[in-house]
Amino acid sequence: MVLMIYNTMTQKKEVFKPLKEGEVRMYVCGPTVYDYSHIGHARTYTAFDVIHRWLEFKGFKVTWVMNITDIDDKMINRAKKEGTTVFELATRFSQAFFKDMDALGIKPDVFPFATGHIPEIIEVIKKLEKNGYAYVIDDGVYFDVSKFKDYGKLSKQKREELIKHRIEPNPNKRNPGDFALWKFKKPGEPSWPSPWGEGRPGWHIECSAMSSKYLGEQFDIHGGGNDLIFPHHENEIAQSEGAFGKKPWVKYWMHTGFLNIKGEKMSKSLGNIIPIKDALQKWEPEVLRLFFVSKHYRSPIDFREEYLNETKESLERIYTFLEKIEKLKVVSKMEKQEKEMLNKVKKAIKDFENAMDDDFNTPKALAVVFNLVKSMNKFLEGRTTISSKLKEEINKFLCMFFYVFGIPKKGRKIVEKELVEKLVEILIEVRNELRKKKDFGLADKIRKKMKDVGILLEDTLTSTEWKLC
Ligand SMILES: [Zn+2]
Repeated sequence: MVLMIYNTMTQKKEVFKPLKEGEVRMYVCGPTVYDYSHIGHARTYTAFDVIHRWLEFKGFKVTWVMNITDIDDKMINRAKKEGTTVFELATRFSQAFFKDMDALGIKPDVFPFATGHIPEIIEVIKKLEKNGYAYVIDDGVYFDVSKFKDYGKLSKQKREELIKHRIEPNPNKRNPGDFALWKFKKPGEPSWPSPWGEGRPGWHIECSAMSSKYLGEQFDIHGGGNDLIFPHHENEIAQSEGAFGKKPWVKYWMHTGFLNIKGEKMSKSLGNIIPIKDALQKWEPEVLRLFFVSKHYRSPIDFREEYLNETKESLERIYTFLEKIEKLKVVSKMEKQEKEMLNKVKKAIKDFENAMDDDFNTPKALAVVFNLVKSMNKFLEGRTTISSKLKEEINKFLCMFFYVFGIPKKGRKIVEKELVEKLVEILIEVRNELRKKKDFGLADKIRKKMKDVGILLEDTLTSTEWKLC
């Protein structure tokens, strides 16, 4: 099956065909580092991490960029409130964010900071000015939305309406919907020089500047939470297509659903915001990840302790199954019933792949996993052996599950031990071959190098033993 992706722009599922064959360039709007990131962010970034993993699993070479907003009104206001600098605040909360991402195993290729890209931002604004989209007034440089004919195409709103109906903070703007590209300096605010005067970038412009720097002026996937569709992503399109003159700027727009807490929207006023670091104190990262993917990325998800506990139990069932398989004696002969089971596993692999190819339908893929574990458990009841072929296929299936959902294999330590043993045996065999050929120099080198890493070889008359020293 080919990969289908729901595109917010066309509002339908489309066959995924990247701009450059075999390569995917993906940009996801990251956090504003004025506070700890919460589990709503974790849900979105986990979703894109799994999307990233599935694309890589399918053989695409993926470049994933996630920006860090370290200058905007929220940053300035929070720094003022805390009596600190924007720089200190950004350092503190970006470090905390990276710690959260590390714990959750979310790994974009580039994390560009807005303040590290001021020259690139200025260049994009210059292009917009040259192309007739930007104008300067008393408090900054603005984007004239009436000049961009496609304004509203992502959020499916009429441009005329968007231009008219917005609460207007600066009456000097040409249209109420016009947004700031560059804000002139106010006392006490961080600022940078620019052709229009000292100031700082508006929020939206950094994404146009940084995506083009790392991914080019057109790329494949742009994502974020669905609260970003308007105005942020709408404005990003206007800026990028206005500046670079290429359409479409982005081929596939992907947006994640909201995360609610016990059926309520997460908000400061309700006091129900859960920072990622707090959630990690209570649940293992793999439990959180599995919980996030238990719902389709476009659907809302409800965060409740009992759901998390259920997820933990479900994951334990998979680990227990893995341990059970590892304990069975492997035999080469395959029974008739095992053949049926083998076909079941093969079908499960296909079903899993089809689910993921259908706009990353993770709940469907998970159902395949749990159903297979259930029927395998039943099949294995009372058995002490397993054919090597069946075990191999089950491992293939489980490896795919662990890899795609980014969940560590608990039995990894056992696997690593086995691997070390096998590698040592190979080295001993090679060394003995060399000794037979009287290449004692190289044989001794192997023995010495192995000793250096803590593996001691002892030659007896008939064999070579080894132990860790
Ligand atoms: Zn953005």
